Amino acid sequence: MSHTANIALITGASRGLGRNTAMHLAKKGVDIILTYHANRGEADAAAAEISALGRRAAVLQLDSGDVASFARFAAETRAVLAGWGCDRFDYLVNNAGTGVWAPFAETSEADFDHLMNIHFKGVYFLTQKLLPLISDGGRIVNVSSGLARFTLPGFSAYAAMKGAVEVLTRYQAKELGARGIRVNTVAPGAIETDFAGGSVRDNPEVNRHTASQTALGRAGLPDDIGPMIASLLSDDNRWINGQRIEVSGGAYL
Ligand code: NDP
Repeated sequence: MSHTANIALITGASRGLGRNTAMHLAKKGVDIILTYHANRGEADAAAAEISALGRRAAVLQLDSGDVASFARFAAETRAVLAGWGCDRFDYLVNNAGTGVWAPFAETSEADFDHLMNIHFKGVYFLTQKLLPLISDGGRIVNVSSGLARFTLPGFSAYAAMKGAVEVLTRYQAKELGARGIRVNTVAPGAIETDFAGGSVRDNPEVNRHTASQTALGRAGLPDDIGPMIASLLSDDNRWINGQRIEVSGGAYL
């Protein structure tokens, strides 16, 4: 089997930033394997939108905190690719995730482990498991957060995991460069999605505060992120490697 088309695998693409990225990649002619965790209906709707754009879409279930399931997930990915007449995909976007807000003094070990598994350990071992399925010359984007640079109370565990992913990105870029695979971190500022109970979008106080700390004077929208990731993955940006790029409208400068 040979490689015939540009294909992206995006984790957590049923909603929010992953879904927006999927749509912008599809508009650039990329076929999409998208994952969801629990929300099959939204994932199917996203797949229908991709199909309407004239691209192929496949939906797979993934718990990105469940390392034991990754062998099965890789086998399912291989089966999707085989169905499309391919044996590799080109772009991996490690995007899936949830937020837990808790002050440092009150963060439980269970919360810590939950965040570690989804945001760090899962990203580490999912990428390792999928490596044989990524094309030489492929690209990986690890989604971090502005919170790995600036500090807001209540995000110590979440942000520390994102910080770990940023270090991981540099090591992956170093080691995978031999295969021509570029690896970068995209660190969004606060964006209006369902994340953290939808607080940036739905809580006027959080929204106002975010806007007040952002040079461009508003909270971010999914459309501020998806096109950027799609562009970063394109050949125009082929020499960007091992970098952390914050996409926040200038938050906490
Ligand atoms: P959303 O809550 O809108 O979407 C989360 C996505 O991740 C959904 O597709 C969801 O699937 C999936 N998901 C949730 N938990 C798991 C899990 N355990 N395993 C696999 N998939 C899971 O979040 P965003 O789009 O806002 O966030 C995307 C990424 O961006 C996250 O990594 C987040 O940390 C990061 N980020 C977000 C910011 C923001 O302000 N929104 C700011 C900075 C970073 P399902 O629909 O099935 O539940």
